[in-house]
This record gives sequence, C-alpha cells and structure tokens, in this order.
Amino acid sequence: MARGGFVAFADYNFPMSETGRTDSGAPAPGVSIRRHPRDYRGNLYVYPVLSRRARGLSIGINLNPDKVCNFDCIYCQVDRRTPPPVRDVDEPRLYDELRSMLGEARSGALFERPEFQGVPADQRVVRDITFSGDGEPPSYPRFLEVVREVLAIKRAAGYDGLKVVVLTNATLLDRPAVQEAMRLLDEDHGEYWLKLDAGTEAYYDLVERTSVPFAKVLRNILQAARVRPVILQSLFMRVHGSPPPAAEIAAYCDRVREILSGGGRVGLIQVYTVARTPAESYVAPLTDAEVDAIAAEVRKSLPVAVEAFYSDR
Ligand code: SF4
Repeated sequence: MARGGFVAFADYNFPMSETGRTDSGAPAPGVSIRRHPRDYRGNLYVYPVLSRRARGLSIGINLNPDKVCNFDCIYCQVDRRTPPPVRDVDEPRLYDELRSMLGEARSGALFERPEFQGVPADQRVVRDITFSGDGEPPSYPRFLEVVREVLAIKRAAGYDGLKVVVLTNATLLDRPAVQEAMRLLDEDHGEYWLKLDAGTEAYYDLVERTSVPFAKVLRNILQAARVRPVILQSLFMRVHGSPPPAAEIAAYCDRVREILSGGGRVGLIQVYTVARTPAESYVAPLTDAEVDAIAAEVRKSLPVAVEAFYSDR
C-alpha cells in the first residue's frame, strides 16, 4: 500500500532535496513530502522517508516495483504513467540495500549526505522500517520469507528494538503465509496500519475500485485487531468537489464500532487527506478545517485516539 497517500509521512520539504547532489555530482533525489523516491541513490527497493510524525527516518521497502495493486484507489499517489525500472523483486539486492542503509544510519554517514542536511540532530535517527511501496506488500508471494530476513538483518545491524510496520489494505491478511509473517512481526513488536476509507459498500466501491468485497476487508481487519491492536488509516477527500457526506462518516464510525464490539483493538485512527497528485483529477484534498471536523466527529463517536494529518497544498 502506498504510503504516499497519507500525511502521516507528510514530511519535510527540504531545501536540500532540491539542491543536494550525489557523490557523482548528479542532483540528489530528495526525501520530502512531494517525493519519496523509490530510486534513492540507485536503490530499487529500499528508500528513506523523513517522517514528521515519527520525528525521524522511516526506511521504506517496496515489494511491488511493478506498481500492481489489487485496489485502484481514486486517490492513489503511485505514478503509474511512468513505467517501472524493474518489475521483479531481486531479494538479495533488496537485502543488500537494507543492510547498506541501516549500516550508514548506524555510522552516521547517511545523515551526512546532502539531502539530510538541515534535519535537526534529534531527528537524525531511524524510527522504523516500513513495508509500503507501490502496491500491496502482502501480495508479494514470498512476503513471509522477506519478513523473516528483514527481521534478521535489522537484528544483525544492531537495531533489535527497531519497529517494523506493514502498511496494508487488509485484503490478504487471511492468507496463512501472511498470518505467519504477522506472527513473526508480533514477536518483534511490529505494527499494522490498515486502510479503512469508507463506512458503506457504495463509498468503498467509489473510492477503492476493487473486486475484493468490503465485507472481506472488514472481516480481515477484525481478525487482525483481535490478535493485536492495529492502527487504522483513513483517507478522506473531495470527490468531484464534495467532501464525504456526514452519513458516510457516521457509517464509518459504525464499522469501527463493530470492530471494537467484536473484540478488536484499535490503538489509533489516523484521519488524513490527499497530499500529492492523486490518480484521478476529480479528487482533491480536504481543507484543514474539514479534516479537523471529521477527526472531531470520529473522536466524539469512538473511544479511540485520533490523529489528524493535513494536506500541505
Ligand atoms: S491503489 Fe490504494 S491500496 Fe493500492 S497502492 Fe494505491 S493507495 Fe495503496
């Protein structure tokens, strides 16, 4: 699931992201809200994101370089007009990229690079490793094996306590191999950020454009939340100029209430809006006041912490 869609990672607009240069003298790709370059310094799968929310560096892993996803969200901010440089995951290379980035972060060399200059010293720290990227991470057939290896690499790099996060639309969480990967991540204080953008089937169909039934997503969220607390990521936007109807927000709260009454635990709801160019031109961000109003309504309705994140447009 693309992290670009949410402002939880709406990050710094570095001056250096525009002006920094690589060792070869070429312009350094930035790490900013506008650009989460998957091709950071020639990497194909591992990329840095500076997270305002986490106040530090999140290391992203892209298991979907082919940009294929089982959702077709109208607000998706993956650039599917540009052909991907690679379509397959070269696992040994992915692991090398991760080792290298963790090693450079550990030594401090990473933060000496031009694109990190200007970052306050207390934020020059790795906060998490996140499975995100250009599609749905658990759709990668060897997701379990990759999770196992990523955990091993992080420990070997001296980052035992580093959190691993999975961003997911929850559609595949009922697969046995994915559940085994989640078990491994649970043992390692992993986190799950699950997409829930709708309260009704009709709005879900409008926004996610998928053949996966809404009921299945809700069922998978409930099952995941029964095992460990989850974080819900909920993006709301203007569609053809209109914000989500009040009845849709009420229905959304009903769905979350059903998860809670079914024994699920929700540690946090992130209410956010579009931050970068969406797939469809009829999609636009909510104003800060509109985001705040939805967050307030959700807070009032549910016994769950709610954080709001805004577009910077
Ligand atoms: S289509 Fe939706 S689920 Fe898939 S990558 Fe884009 S935002 Fe994430």
